[in-house]
Amino acid sequence: MKKIIIVGGGAGGLELATLLGKKLGKLGKAEITLIDKNTNHLWKPLLHEIATGTLNDELDHVSYFSQAQNNSFIFKQGQLINIDRDNKVIELNDVIDHENQVIFPKTSLSYDLLVIAIGSTSNDFGTPGVKEYCTFLDDQESAKRFRKSILSTFFRFSSGIEKNEKLNIAIVGAGATGVELTTELFRMIKTLGQYGFEKLEPSLLNITLIEATDRILPALPENVSKNIQTKLEELGAIVLTKTKIVKADNNHFYPEDEAPIPADIMMWTAGVKAADFLKDLAGLETNRVNQLIVKPTLQTTRDDSIFAIGDCTCCAKAEGGFTPATAQAAHQMASICAVNIVSIINNETLKHFQYNNKGTIISLANTAQGVIKTIGKNQMGVKGWIASCIYRMLYRLHQIALFGPFKTFRLARANKVYRSVRTTINMN
Ligand SMILES: Cc1cc2nc3c(=O)[nH]c(=O)nc-3n(C[C@H](O)[C@H](O)[C@H](O)COP(=O)(O)OP(=O)(O)OC[C@H]3O[C@@H](n4cnc5c(N)ncnc54)[C@H](O)[C@@H]3O)c2cc1C
Repeated sequence: MKKIIIVGGGAGGLELATLLGKKLGKLGKAEITLIDKNTNHLWKPLLHEIATGTLNDELDHVSYFSQAQNNSFIFKQGQLINIDRDNKVIELNDVIDHENQVIFPKTSLSYDLLVIAIGSTSNDFGTPGVKEYCTFLDDQESAKRFRKSILSTFFRFSSGIEKNEKLNIAIVGAGATGVELTTELFRMIKTLGQYGFEKLEPSLLNITLIEATDRILPALPENVSKNIQTKLEELGAIVLTKTKIVKADNNHFYPEDEAPIPADIMMWTAGVKAADFLKDLAGLETNRVNQLIVKPTLQTTRDDSIFAIGDCTCCAKAEGGFTPATAQAAHQMASICAVNIVSIINNETLKHFQYNNKGTIISLANTAQGVIKTIGKNQMGVKGWIASCIYRMLYRLHQIALFGPFKTFRLARANKVYRSVRTTINMN
């Protein structure tokens, strides 16, 4: 029986393992194994809500073990560190527990087909001081750490231990993550004030959102990006465009040719790159941000038995440019990758992946705004509750891919009930 290994159980990899488990694993046509360094999955676009406590991660995370059991694939915890392409073997590092003890030693697994779906991490572009002093929103752990730390900071302001008039927060990178985080922080402090915490109100926050290009959200049409900038400024944020940060220290960002920007809390949300170790991994071809270059079939250019999907992939679009690193693209790549792997098993011709951009919606805490695709290449602006519904729909589509429509509907209902009996902000 063919052995198919998927490394990375994120937006793309977990959907792929679920699809292949149903299509091949269940019928005994192949053995499907999913590897992830963690034991549970949380859909990454929710991270800014986890970071500000406006979403409870316990309700939304998925155990790889139960997903594997329910969908006829095997789950193994492990971190990919190397591939031996000649012998078709992957190498996994020691798995270490919270007390730094090895719980599973280094191991090797053989494969017939391998899919790399290990996502991306923040890119500091080599800017001095950023790695040392800035917070990144890369995974559940960093989001939870940030939540605990900002809650403590807010409480110190509320109790009077912190005497400053304002809390200076600077966020570098005004793409979706930076913008969404800004609005969630305003929502967070407003809600805490409503719980009765003295001095916690939006005017305490001095948030500066810093962008190197000439406007925020460069992926959106100019009028939408302008509208969202106005909304951010109405909330009280300072938006600096055409401001390139060249250095950071423990409480300043240094723009090129301008005065330093002071910050008590420094966030970096300016772009992503694939993991550094991919650059030299088994001679596979990569681009300058370490993404594995793939053919239209999603097979890596130098090895047909290795596929790559999601953020760690550089996939050219037929019309020019590259598929963006988004959950929407990872979802679409997972579907085509599943079709192609089934085709290989059945000796059929492989399909070409073609990214279909269905639009971009930015969540602005209690509302949302963006564009959706209409006929042909046309786009239509959407905002308000319709945009919020479409934004949530992307997550629901991910849940449908994992659990099917019936369970997803019931999960959404259960979530609503749970939300009605708990604090809106997760204070744990
Ligand atoms: C705050 C935030 C908001 C976002 N909002 C949106 C949005 O609104 N819309 C949108 O389309 N996209 C959004 N994105 C982008 C989206 O989250 C990613 O594009 C998407 O998650 C990529 O999916 P993936 O499967 O490639 O990787 P991921 O979902 O990141 O999954 C990668 C998986 O690989 C595992 N892994 C990593 N390295 C290893 C290793 N060496 N060995 C084993 N396992 C490993 C990780 O644990 C993880 O489970 C957002 C991202 C962030 C951070």
